[in-house]
Amino acid sequence: MNRFEETLQRYGKRMRREKTESLQINVGKLCNLACVHCHVNASPKRKEIMARQTVEQILQWFARSKIPTLDITGGAPEMIPDFRYLIEGAKEISPERHIIDRCNLTILLEPGYTDLPELLARHRVEVIASMPCYSPDNVDAQRGEGVFDNSIRALRILNDHGYGYDPELPLHLVYNPVGASLPGSQEELEHDYQVELKKHFGIVFNRLYTLVNMPIARFASYLKRQGEYEEYMSLLANAFNPATVEGLMCRNTLNVGWQGEVYDCDFNQMLDLQWHHNGKPLYLWDIDPDQLEGRPIMTGEHCFGCTAGAGSSCGGAILEEAPAEAAAR
Ligand code: SF4
Ligand code: SF4
Repeated sequence: MNRFEETLQRYGKRMRREKTESLQINVGKLCNLACVHCHVNASPKRKEIMARQTVEQILQWFARSKIPTLDITGGAPEMIPDFRYLIEGAKEISPERHIIDRCNLTILLEPGYTDLPELLARHRVEVIASMPCYSPDNVDAQRGEGVFDNSIRALRILNDHGYGYDPELPLHLVYNPVGASLPGSQEELEHDYQVELKKHFGIVFNRLYTLVNMPIARFASYLKRQGEYEEYMSLLANAFNPATVEGLMCRNTLNVGWQGEVYDCDFNQMLDLQWHHNGKPLYLWDIDPDQLEGRPIMTGEHCFGCTAGAGSSCGGAILEEAPAEAAAR
């Protein structure tokens, strides 16, 4: 039993899947950036991307299911050749199904991708965009030189298409700390972002999601190089907050890799914790969308990254505030 499971047991908690509300597909590791904190190890050099046949198999499975949301992530998901096909295919299944694009913003300025804001707006795709700070230094340190200015330009383009203004075109931003610390209050940071981005750049957005940096992949290597890995793991484990467990995203999100493999979450995907049945690895088309409830969730010590303080999930902090005793524990 891993240390996370022992902690859960101490608090009388169990990790079991509930009704699936979101199918999250990670379409590959190709990205135009190579950020320090990236849990996917994504970069412009990566070759792993979802093929047309896999996109089709996923769309067929999604059509058979009643899962209301398709959440598309990467890498920069827009860089796979079939990104437009995927969006249009999902909307053809039913215009009522909700689609999310997890976007790094800068891709929207690259040659070959400048049509995307119009396509996303036309299909009412929700955009969740990385923006780790409202000032240039922190963003450029984490994501690369010039990324802040390009992110601001992309946000303006999204605003010009109605994002952040039209209730059917939500634009949410994602914050994660630059280094080995927990994010502060989501509510306070959201307020600061809203004031600063409006005042200096005229930018409007809906919600800010604060995420904890996961101690895996590139961020784990970075921490190890700095000699901070053990300290960060202790910080996360000591901030374990049992009240976050009911809201963990792995309870209601099904995660799929670029080859169709199935996982409990994107972090488990990066750690190769693929689902198996009788020793055989499972792909999306092997599983019945109606038979997922109650399945145990595969965990590891990295799960402390989701349960520290106010918690962390695809939709930001799980709780409004971290109780003082959880932060101090
Ligand atoms: S964090 Fe996002 S934008 Fe940065 S390299 Fe990873 S996938 Fe690309
Ligand atoms: S890393 Fe987080 S989302 Fe994934 S299984 Fe662990 S607790 Fe759940």
